[in-house]
Amino acid sequence: MIPVAKPELGEEEIALVAETIRSGWITQGPRVAEFEQAFAARVGARHAVAVSNCTTALHCSLIAAGVGAGDEVIVTPHSYIATSNAILYCGARPVFVDIDPATLNMDPLRVAKALTHRTKAIMVVHQVGRPSDLEALAGIAAARGLKLIEDAACAIGSTYHGRPIGDNCYAPLVCFSFHPRKVISTGDGGMITTGDPVLASHLRLLRQHGMSVNDLERHKSKTVVTETYPILGYNYRLTDVQAAIGLAQLARLDGIIMRRRSIAANYDAAFAGLPGIGLFAEPPGARWNHQTYLIRMLGASVKKRDDFMQALLEEGIATRRGIMSIHREASYISRFGQQSFPESEQASDQCVCLPLYAQMGDADIAKVCSAVRKHAP
Ligand SMILES: *Cc1c(COP(=O)(O)O)cnc(C)c1O
Repeated sequence: MIPVAKPELGEEEIALVAETIRSGWITQGPRVAEFEQAFAARVGARHAVAVSNCTTALHCSLIAAGVGAGDEVIVTPHSYIATSNAILYCGARPVFVDIDPATLNMDPLRVAKALTHRTKAIMVVHQVGRPSDLEALAGIAAARGLKLIEDAACAIGSTYHGRPIGDNCYAPLVCFSFHPRKVISTGDGGMITTGDPVLASHLRLLRQHGMSVNDLERHKSKTVVTETYPILGYNYRLTDVQAAIGLAQLARLDGIIMRRRSIAANYDAAFAGLPGIGLFAEPPGARWNHQTYLIRMLGASVKKRDDFMQALLEEGIATRRGIMSIHREASYISRFGQQSFPESEQASDQCVCLPLYAQMGDADIAKVCSAVRKHAP
């Protein structure tokens, strides 16, 4: 069976984890600090704050941006449910804006109509690692005095206008995920980058109970330290064991992306002539890490899409449905009633995610290419 995704892990991760365990310090400590510095350097950010996953990264970022009860946040319904759940955690309302079907990302032209006096922030998602139109969205945010937060869960290593996603050129807060479905993984894990030292210290308080002194500082102190808890915080820490994996993963990032891009180019060439299949091109001016390879079955019903996925499964090839439409889930319908975002819904129903991971062998790539060509409508 060819899986949809698979993290690339090896001896380097094992060695660094072993070293970390032998050090005797396994929770958030020196490795996390080292991982934060390496990550910030990699994406060109001034500060990087590690947290337990991208969902908690989004939650902390929203709080740091001042989002609270009664506020509205503009967001796409075409994303993993964590994106807008983080808005609900703040007591705020996710106001969905439909996507541009060509990019699967929020359509900036639709944002103006969704703004109200309650709008506090815009949460932009770089879906499947394809950079969104940051320039347009940052322009709207600046003109209306809104905070722009990037859900870059999938976008480590992607670039926009030559700048790495995460350098805070367009948004003060950018959130990443290290779940195994993403390009690099620590099992679970997340990171927030910011250019603002005040936001960075706020985020550091939020991730560990609002505690004024962290464990490592207290441990190293030559004098007795009594910590205080000036704000309500959470336990959203990454551990040093996870950070050790992350350091080894960061060193692999360029190689992983190079391989992913080459597999995607193979797929693009193999499927280019198929009339029933739509492909997603690299956005102009951007470099896409190909976190997920999607094809779109043009005009297909859900039944036809599922039949296609079943045919591939029977040939030993795992696939997944496209990106979900969050507003269709019961936990949203019960809060906000039925909402309709036709572009998002159609894309959810017609897209299929194909296997793509760095260690995928050439024979497996060829097998996927011929099976898709054989079963494509
Ligand atoms: C995976 C993902 C998340 C959630 O990341 P976790 O690290 O699993 O919390 C959020 N947003 C998007 C767009 C994602 O793809």
